[in-house]
This record gives sequence, C-alpha cells and structure tokens, in this order.
Amino acid sequence: MRVPSRSVSSPLLVALLGLSGVAAGSAAAAPSPGAESAKDRIYPTIGNGGYDVQHYDLALDYRPAAKRLSGTATITARATQDLSRFTLDYAGPAVSAVTVDGRPAPVLRVRRTRKLRITPPVPITSGAPFVVAVTYAGRPRPTSTAGPDEGFIPTRRGAVVTSEPVGAKTWFPGNDVPFDKAAYTLRMTVPRGLDVVGNGVLRSKVPGATGTTFTWVEDQPLSTYLMTANVGRFRVSTSTGPGGIPIYDAVAPAAAEQTREEGGIAAQPDILAVFSKRFGAYPFTTSGSTVFDEPALGFALENQSRPTYSSAPDASTVAHELAHQWFGDAVTLRRWSDIWLNEGFATWAQWYYDAHRKYYFPTRANLRGVLRIEDRAFWNVAPAAPRSRAELFDGAVYFRGAATLEALRGRIGDARFTTLLRRWYAEHRAAPTTTRQFTALAEEVAGRDLTPFFRAWLYAHRKPAKRFR
Ligand SMILES: [Zn+2]
Repeated sequence: MRVPSRSVSSPLLVALLGLSGVAAGSAAAAPSPGAESAKDRIYPTIGNGGYDVQHYDLALDYRPAAKRLSGTATITARATQDLSRFTLDYAGPAVSAVTVDGRPAPVLRVRRTRKLRITPPVPITSGAPFVVAVTYAGRPRPTSTAGPDEGFIPTRRGAVVTSEPVGAKTWFPGNDVPFDKAAYTLRMTVPRGLDVVGNGVLRSKVPGATGTTFTWVEDQPLSTYLMTANVGRFRVSTSTGPGGIPIYDAVAPAAAEQTREEGGIAAQPDILAVFSKRFGAYPFTTSGSTVFDEPALGFALENQSRPTYSSAPDASTVAHELAHQWFGDAVTLRRWSDIWLNEGFATWAQWYYDAHRKYYFPTRANLRGVLRIEDRAFWNVAPAAPRSRAELFDGAVYFRGAATLEALRGRIGDARFTTLLRRWYAEHRAAPTTTRQFTALAEEVAGRDLTPFFRAWLYAHRKPAKRFR
C-alpha cells in the first residue's frame, strides 16, 4: 500500500494537459489531475499518480458458456494530492457506469494507454479516502505483452486468471503496478457445479437463483498481478502446513492422477517448512494451489497465498512458486526491470530445495551448469537491465539471476549469505524494492565493496570473467 514519492503532476504534464496554471506565489495549489503513468521503463503507460489504493472489492458474475464477465469493482483509495481527476488502468469489458463516493462521475476510456480517465463531481482533497465504483460487462480478452497470455483467460468450462505482468487490467480496473498493494475481496457468482478459487480465505459459498457465489478475502495487501479468480470444476482438499498454516488445494479432476504422480502439491508442507527455516517465517496466513488441466497454457504463477499451475506440477516447480511468496509477493518490485529480484531468487530457492530433497547441497553444481552455457544470446541479457519486454522473462533473468546469488554465496560465505536473504526479506517487506537496495544490503552484510562483482553478473552483456565466478 504505497505510491511513489513522485505523485504530483510535473509542470510539463500540466502544460501538456492544458490545465490552467497556478499563480506564482499562490499558497495553495488548485486541484490537478493525477499523473497518468508510474514511469515504468518497460511499461511506460502503467500506473496512476495521486492516490494509493487500500482495497479492491470485486463483485463479479462469470458465465463460461457465453464467456461473459459482469459486475462492479469498488476501489477504496486515499488521495495523495488534491485531485481534479485521476485514471485507472483498465482493458476489460465495456463500462456502463462509474461513481465516485456514490455520485455518478464522467469517464473517458483512453484506449491507447488502456486507462479510464475519471472526473469526480467534486475535487478530492489530499489525504481523503474516496470510493470509486466501476460497473462493466462483456467478454474479457487476455492480453500478451511479454510472451504468454496474461489476465482473464476463458477456457472451455471456466477461466484461468494469471496476470503477470500487466494482465490484471483485463478483468478489473485498478492501479496496475506491483507496488500499490491493497487488500481484496472477491465475490464471484458462477453457474452451479463450478468452483471459484481466489486468494486468501474462502469466507462463504452461497447457492442462489443464478448460481453459487464464492467470497474470498485476502486481507494481507497484494499486488494486482497476484490477484486471481480461477473458475472451473475442482476437487478441493484442505490440510495444515507447518505452524498450522491452512492449505487449500483445488485440483481439476482430469489433473488429479498426474498431480499425485508428480508429487508437487503433496510436498507443499515440506517446502514451506524448508523455506521458513531458511528465509524467515512464511509471510501469509494461508497457502495452497489451483491446478488446471490446461497443459497448452504452460505456466505456473505465484498468485499470493495460492499459486496457479496450468497442469500438475512437480516439487521443484512448486518450490519455485512458493519461494515467490517471500520474494516477489511479500518483497515487492518497484519496477518491472528489476524482475530478477523475483525470478533469480525463486530459481535459486528452487535449486536449494532440490538439493535439500536429495539431502546434499549442490547449488554450486547449478552455478557450474549455468557457466557452461556458451550461447552468446544468453549472456547478452543482463538480469538487472532487461532492455525490452521480450527480455523481461528471458531464461537469463532466471538462471543468470540465480547464478548471481550462488556466486555471491561462494564469495561471501554461506553464513553471511543466509543473513543477507533473511534481512532482505525481513527489512524490505514493507516498501517496494530495487536492485540497488539489494546490492547495498549485500555490501553491508559482506562488509566490503561488491560493485565490480555485481556489475559483471547483473549489468554486463557478457559472461562474467573468471575472477567473479
Ligand atoms: Zn518465477
């Protein structure tokens, strides 16, 4: 629940938008539009200034046969400037009404930047809470900005919701940046016989005239891309993890046998215990999974407290997604170009868990494996400096990112490395993070300058020289 420190429109933006200027020397600035971008280098149109979202209430109805999503998203936010108008990221079905604090508000849909530009009936005062309700209906269409489909993906009998990085706007309006975390309530009605699996805790499941309404509540703030609303037929099972964490698993019947064979879902309590010991206590109050039988989608995503798998996962894949609960979900990105802080860490944790399962410690072997890669294209991608959306989820971000951590472990020793991971998690959960913050903490823990090491591993478009391995 945070916005960037820069939240007031720049003079240039004010000029571009043709606003009346404020008289020089005037004590109080007139209300002005919130910025229409968070200035993310890879996704320059995402994010909105002037407010901080506190809560999303998504009251939706989904009809798989017609692929029709309808309902109202109610967003509670707090203004961080005097606002004459503001925007929400949105690329979903047609909007029929918008209200601000219960009063109808004019809205302009800006297709080029995928925004709703909303003018409240009266300006909103800096610091004041306000409530925006957006009503919409129609066929949701996933987007594709970094490879696979993102967002609300209709399937034959339901829907898969997997929104990283910027697909959340395909199914609800909001501030679609990782760092404006908010609590969420999902109230979704689907035809009888189908299930809805969201984040957090299932509060109720109520049959009604038009179907069954599922209410899911996640009161630990989460990023928009980590919110989910999976729809399908599932076999639900519940169990208890280490420390009494309730685990809620929903597995598509057609994936049930393979899920048993792969063993990843059954390994969750062990994985949570291993990571809690290594990184610090599990960040959330619930855990679990949704497993689809949609192998063609070919993804796994670390949706907060309840990762989604397109098909039955093995233990290594589950370890990766559960590691993200610490690194990616609890510790959050400030901007997408630092994605290695999520993927490098989750991949290293996956190596660590694989090693644990075999009762020895060969994470070093994975580093040697990465260093054996001779492909110039692989080493041309710098994990902390992706140049395009295509590079954002390149294999190098995962494997060179993880190799960076393993090489660092070799350089500073296992004890200091463990301290570093634990402090990174404990001290950086509260606010969005950047690579610079991580490298600064690493130098503090190591007690020495690591600039050449990190430059070679994270920023150079070539294989690190031998002295850094
Ligand atoms: Zn990942």
